[in-house]
Amino acid sequence: VEADDVLIVGRVITLDPGLPEAEAVLVRGERILGVGRLDDLRAESLFRGHIVETHGGLILPAFHDAHLHLLKYARTRAKLDCGTFGSLHDLQIGLRRQAAMLSPGEWLRGWAYDERRLHTPRHPSRWDLDQAVADRPVRLEHRGLHLDLFNTRALDLLGLMDYQAPEVERDDRGQPTGRVYDGARLLRSRLPRPSRREIADAVRGASRQLLAWGVTSVQEASATNDVEQWELWHALAESGDLGVRLFFLPGATEWTSLRESRQPSSRLRLGPVKIMLTDGGTDPHLVRAHVDAAHAAGSGVAIHALNESDLAIALYAFRESRPTPPGVNDRIEHAAVIPDALLADVAEAHVTVVGQPGLVYDRGDMYLADHPPEQHDWLHRSGSVLAAGIPYAVGSDAPVLPPDPLLAVRSLVRRVTRSGSVLGQSERVDRSTALAATIVAPSLAVGVQDLGILRRGAWADLVVLDQALLEQPANATWTAQLCMTSGRIVWSREAD
Ligand SMILES: [Zn+2]
Repeated sequence: VEADDVLIVGRVITLDPGLPEAEAVLVRGERILGVGRLDDLRAESLFRGHIVETHGGLILPAFHDAHLHLLKYARTRAKLDCGTFGSLHDLQIGLRRQAAMLSPGEWLRGWAYDERRLHTPRHPSRWDLDQAVADRPVRLEHRGLHLDLFNTRALDLLGLMDYQAPEVERDDRGQPTGRVYDGARLLRSRLPRPSRREIADAVRGASRQLLAWGVTSVQEASATNDVEQWELWHALAESGDLGVRLFFLPGATEWTSLRESRQPSSRLRLGPVKIMLTDGGTDPHLVRAHVDAAHAAGSGVAIHALNESDLAIALYAFRESRPTPPGVNDRIEHAAVIPDALLADVAEAHVTVVGQPGLVYDRGDMYLADHPPEQHDWLHRSGSVLAAGIPYAVGSDAPVLPPDPLLAVRSLVRRVTRSGSVLGQSERVDRSTALAATIVAPSLAVGVQDLGILRRGAWADLVVLDQALLEQPANATWTAQLCMTSGRIVWSREAD
């Protein structure tokens, strides 16, 4: 039985340079059958086709997040967001409230606490947490993800009260303070592992949030991505818990073993190899060797380069390694700092820059305080990157930022910070450029031509927005009217 045609009527922005605007989109099955004038499409549609009237809505190709950590984001949604508390007292009240909603003995998990927002001269201690909640284990993750705070009950359960290790901080009297630095390895075997059911529920919930925001494709860019994770995503796709298309960027030490293990599908595909650089500690020759190996195997690379010295190492690796294979893209992740002097070198490297402009809103006030004024235009740049002819795609880096694509679009267009200041005014771009960076550029960055564009033959992944949404403040809450992936309506505000 052939699926019914769906004719969606509104103001269509196609992101197809051949036909930028249209009156309607006709969908048959998983693909787009036509884009154009309403009368023409109505004549072309099957007799039994039905019409979706968007009442002046804006119809766009669906959004595509070019860099996030989906599993981590999914799991943080079940945790208390501590990033908004403005004092230790507020944090303690928040913890008590959260504890009241959990079952007895259940772990209380919080994340994204930020000592700069708490306005405390030091990180909180286990005694500060005990004051709020002592009768159940509490774990708070710092926003930088390199520090964990535990209360006394948690340290007890984890066997860390008497455990001597450099990660477990102790005070002058030898008492553990509750702070555990860079404890990922130490904690992995001790913390309770989430059950398969908990992971599936978390991913299902995160997918639903993404679809409500019109995001139907994401790129999972965790450096720890290995065979086990790759298999997990396949299982979650098969069970229907993964509601979005996922491009999996395998970690640099793991990719050879999983490259041939599965056939690519329309839901799950491999992206470029993710290469991590950590502050100053990375050997440029090692990075170059990773790039060489990936290129030799016909794969692109995505080099994590946060600051100026990371960027220099990445550019060295691209310059000195064997050429990129045809049809494959290399990229630089974050590029949070690009000095003027390096823009031409980035252009010459023929790489895509994958940026997080939402940080201009979220962290912009701190950047303004921390960086000298002459560097303000170098931070999270986008306008000058595009002007230099460098492809530019946007990711949220969720859970660092919520994967709300309009946060990025509004940041790209306005560059306004939380407090209302402007960071790097000359880096602003116009709205259609901002939409291209959040919709079509991420697909092109993974070599996919039939996503992120509304034209005959492309995947029927689209979103309907209220027109006024793009004018609202960066942090305004919203959902799409409707979101469609592979021709199926997967989110509808009316049905919610
Ligand atoms: Zn990231």
